[in-house]
Amino acid sequence: MNETQIPSRFLLKNTGENTNEDELARQKVFLERARLHAGELERLLGRTPTFCVVNFGCQANAKDSEKLAGVLRSAGFTGTESEGADFVIYNTCTVRDNADNHFFGRLGRASHFKKENPSMKIAVCGCMMQEQGNVDKIRKSYPYVDLIFGTHNLFRFPEYLCDVYEKDTGAFDIRGQKIIDIWDKTDRIVEDLPAERKYSFKAGVNIMFGCDNFCTYCIVPYVRGRERSRNASEILREVEALAADGVCEVMLLGQNVDSYGLDLIKKGEPSMSFPELLEAVAHVPGIERVRFMTPHPKDMSDDLIEVIRRNPNIARHIHLPLQSGSDRILKKMNRHYTKEQYIALAEKIRERIPDAAITTDIIAGFPGEEMCDVEDTLDVIRRVGFDNAYTFIYSIRRGTPAAKMEQIPEEQVKEGFDKILSAVQESARNRASILTGRTMRALVEEVNKQDPQYVSARLSNNIIVHIPGDESMIGKFYDVHLDTCKGFYFFGTVVR
Ligand code: SF4
Repeated sequence: MNETQIPSRFLLKNTGENTNEDELARQKVFLERARLHAGELERLLGRTPTFCVVNFGCQANAKDSEKLAGVLRSAGFTGTESEGADFVIYNTCTVRDNADNHFFGRLGRASHFKKENPSMKIAVCGCMMQEQGNVDKIRKSYPYVDLIFGTHNLFRFPEYLCDVYEKDTGAFDIRGQKIIDIWDKTDRIVEDLPAERKYSFKAGVNIMFGCDNFCTYCIVPYVRGRERSRNASEILREVEALAADGVCEVMLLGQNVDSYGLDLIKKGEPSMSFPELLEAVAHVPGIERVRFMTPHPKDMSDDLIEVIRRNPNIARHIHLPLQSGSDRILKKMNRHYTKEQYIALAEKIRERIPDAAITTDIIAGFPGEEMCDVEDTLDVIRRVGFDNAYTFIYSIRRGTPAAKMEQIPEEQVKEGFDKILSAVQESARNRASILTGRTMRALVEEVNKQDPQYVSARLSNNIIVHIPGDESMIGKFYDVHLDTCKGFYFFGTVVR
């Protein structure tokens, strides 16, 4: 410790009332300190220390994992896939089915790695840590975990990273204990900490955090807080920097992207609307394709449809979560639209942007669902003709209103699920097959995992086409003839 002369952490102010700029400056100081710790670890180990970020969740989680990886790499660690790395961080999720069980199983196995590598540090963060019960469980049953923090204070990761390496040195009074810091909420958006991108040619860009909708089955508003939109100029600055770095496709991310900016306007701050922001991003030089995820049907405006229509580089793919086709169930879900309103919206999109794919999410087996409700959902599937759909079986999320509703028998859930699944599969096959023989622009994303003689490319409508090629094609656009439809994907050949 003497050798690296790490300054006293108490010189840094920690008021909780810092502005976003103060907080960024504060975390940059900790990042410098973390570099010293990584250097010290390197001397101790005789090699560069490694890190592994294990991601369990949705796109918001994946984006957070990029930030965690960016901080660790910037501090001097090198990335690995191995959960026996010197610093392992589990970024948890409460949204996906069975994610909790899956996570605790993995965390249990981590003790074995720690025995083999005593200098290993283990951290846990993400949505699950916003639930007190999970934190208590780790505290009680997983003594080898060094650090726990939640979703609202992820921007403090450089500071916690230092804490993990300083806690056993007597630098402050938690020698040998876990570091636990969970916040109930935040209105902070701290920009410009390092982040690592998975792909060099495409990137996700958070435009907002949290959600105000409180769908009764969803935990997101409780664990990720209320909607907080980023400043449009910051978003555009990030997109311009990505374009300058060779990124040609961006996806704008948020739990409810089409309400972007409303929270700022409510606070009396000027803001672009989502359609304005989307169009501005589409006009950034070098950005050849823009996607967005996820809009809410209740907030999808005519302006947004018009912006998509008039900008051909905005992807011809609108993911419009339906969840149920039954008005009774939609009301119980707190979704704020009816079956007929949803169908009218989908028809409007089809009429104004005929080449746009419409995909959706559907939950089968929501509490109280009967076969007549399933029939309503099947009716929407038939009338809209979805290009694809993610069909989920409802699973209880502790802490949500739906968890207290009367659940329905498993056989009934299964019957409804099977009917919905086969209807969406038929719809997707029908919609894809009509594209056979067309030539469409596709962005090559990766070498095909099954057959390395092929690469996999994505069309504007989100369909995958496999074409003969090699890794030199990754990140480039090609005009591709769609030769053969294989149900939900194509085999094709490059035209130019
Ligand atoms: S819109 Fe509903 S389902 Fe989506 S994140 Fe918000 S509360 Fe959850």
